[in-house]
Amino acid sequence: MQSYLGFDWPASKTVDYDKFRDANAFRTNSTCQAPQVACESAGTVQSTITFDEHELIHAYLSPSGRAPALFEEGVAVVLTWRSMVCNTPANAAAPELSWADAIRIGDPNTDGRIYLSGARLVAHLLRRYDPHLFMRLYRALPRTATPELVSDQMMSIYGKSGDELWANAVADAVANADCVPAWPCARDALPLDGSAAHLAASCAGIDHDQRTFRLTATSNLFLSATADTLELFACDPDAPPPPVSFFPIWDGPERSGLINLGPGNYFLDFFNYPTDLALSIPDGSPAGTDCAALQPLPLSPSQYPIQVTSPLSSGDWFVAFQIGSPARMLTVSNDETTDLLLCPSCDFTSASCRAIPKAMPWLDVDLEQVVYARMRGRDMKIALP
Ligand SMILES: [Zn+2]
Repeated sequence: MQSYLGFDWPASKTVDYDKFRDANAFRTNSTCQAPQVACESAGTVQSTITFDEHELIHAYLSPSGRAPALFEEGVAVVLTWRSMVCNTPANAAAPELSWADAIRIGDPNTDGRIYLSGARLVAHLLRRYDPHLFMRLYRALPRTATPELVSDQMMSIYGKSGDELWANAVADAVANADCVPAWPCARDALPLDGSAAHLAASCAGIDHDQRTFRLTATSNLFLSATADTLELFACDPDAPPPPVSFFPIWDGPERSGLINLGPGNYFLDFFNYPTDLALSIPDGSPAGTDCAALQPLPLSPSQYPIQVTSPLSSGDWFVAFQIGSPARMLTVSNDETTDLLLCPSCDFTSASCRAIPKAMPWLDVDLEQVVYARMRGRDMKIALP
């Protein structure tokens, strides 16, 4: 977080963290003001949450001074990935409270809309400019700054007035209402050589954990995992969201996936249980728009079920598998594609092809050697029956 934002941190400084057992213990013993459910004061966090990202951001920024609440709360909200405020669908609309009114009101306990307005403005500043510029603004502003002073500082740091940046922020967030995933994207990247990363559960009381990986070019990615749930997200807030159906929750704990992703940083979110993840970029290309160019992906029995996801919103996506010999009975699911065709070659007019139309969501089929699939739609799955 420090390298992302570039905040000051004295060498010997630590954060004090008072973790309360429950809401009752918090109400009775914390020094936070009602109606707060957590707070930070002078670098000390008080919370019932084991890892309270929002209050930790406040604690990390406390040596940098006390900026107006619009910025202090805005940055804490927008760097808390999956916070309730970020995921509110209403976020797509312009906030009711303008940046200048939020500065004039000052206290978020008086008007909670300061959180929404702050998140909107700070998200824009962090996404569209060097995040270190935000810390320059933060350090330059006293808690009691007027809108005029804030706008002057914005003009000198960003080259735009408060009203200009606000108008841009309001327009910006309509296209992308999510928070900046700075925490989950800050972890060391997972290897892409197929070696299994054995991820032990991190701190007790944290529901989810995340690990990142980096793709330098558009790639097919093969993933095998033992994880109860697994969700894929993009780190770059401007990246198109990856398919959400990559690993359906109803599959067993051991499963594989084949997906095609553009270059960039991504992260996988999973329940905070011991989890194995192995990522690799297959030799050749087992999936693509040109069937004749594919190199079949060898599949061993331990790799079923495998979920294959098409990156296309329309059009044909081809996948080739090396099933081996003798023939093996497999269940092929077609929950989402409009049309799925399995053939022994790239000739999809051959009489040997098997069609699995959407009206027939799954079929047990004998498959042998190399199988070519033509998908028209989002995903398909091959499983042991
Ligand atoms: Zn706060």
